[in-house]
Amino acid sequence: MSDVQELVIVGSGPAGYTAAIYAARAQLSPTIYEGSVTAGGALMNTTDVENFPGFPDGVMGPDLMDSLRKQAQKFGSKLITDDIVEMDLSGDIKVLKDGSGNTVKARSVILATGSAYKEIGLENEKRLSGRGVSWCATCDGFFFREKELAVVGGGDSAMEEANFLTRFATKVYLIHRRDSLRASKIMAERAQANPKIEFIWNTEVIDVLGAEKVEGLQLRNLVTNEVSEKKFDGLFVAIGHVPRSELLVGQIDLDDEGYVKVVGRSTNTNLKGVFACGDLVDHTYRQAITAAGSGCSAALDAERFLAGH
Ligand code: NAP
Repeated sequence: MSDVQELVIVGSGPAGYTAAIYAARAQLSPTIYEGSVTAGGALMNTTDVENFPGFPDGVMGPDLMDSLRKQAQKFGSKLITDDIVEMDLSGDIKVLKDGSGNTVKARSVILATGSAYKEIGLENEKRLSGRGVSWCATCDGFFFREKELAVVGGGDSAMEEANFLTRFATKVYLIHRRDSLRASKIMAERAQANPKIEFIWNTEVIDVLGAEKVEGLQLRNLVTNEVSEKKFDGLFVAIGHVPRSELLVGQIDLDDEGYVKVVGRSTNTNLKGVFACGDLVDHTYRQAITAAGSGCSAALDAERFLAGH
């Protein structure tokens, strides 16, 4: 038996699991590398998903991912809870190495590694990460009972994090660099109606204060340029995401922001037999359902490619 697989999918989440469901039903016996700590992707860190079609009462993010995972498994996908740490995608046979040192060969690869939380880029943000600085309210909110917190950002994530944190915190300050929100109307209105949330507009965080844990923030008002300090017990950063394409640099076409470039409406990359989907390619929509849709497209593109070879 050949040790070359038909299809390997790198990354789980709605895109990776949907690609696996379609590819497995097409008898391609895909192997999906789910990631060692990030299996299930970003939705593992969310609570209620209210806008995934088919769930009129909403569904918890981890439950949704568990269902997709089981569905992929049911049709014969092989799930491996490990990372891919190296890839050579240039030849007809793609060579990948996993975190346990195994080498995997495949005729086609679907990249679905998603995105990672964006950082503000401050030295003390990094230093105090896990000691009051967090990117995940559902993971860490519990530790901030009866505390005063800051959330940075003006998009849906910031609104969602701030609302969630009011379950624990006495007060949540939402710090945004402009005077209008990027968030969708429904999410913005929900945050604005929450009596425990107060908005601090036109303001950026210029430093995170505290020796052992977060004790406050240094802020700059971007209209008046005034610098001030304010006490906080925690900082939640919700300023968007960056594509997880670091393993691909230098071997596949990426755009200026690091997203994988695909051809037209397809999931074809510039490399034959390599397809990309989900948040790894998507600047614009970045929804669970659009990621799932593009995972489906990637499986169909891979199936056609393999049929032609
Ligand atoms: P986003 O929509 O890109 O918003 C990022 C926010 O962070 C923006 O307000 C941006 O400010 C701000 N920002 C970016 N860089 C910054 C920096 N260096 N310093 C300070 N502020 C900075 O990201 P997101 O909120 O993570 O949402 C991503 C996607 O997921 C969106 O499509 C969203 O609809 C979706 N999402 C949906 C839900 C839901 O429906 N339940 C929940 C979460 C996310 P500017 O506005 O000035 O650019």
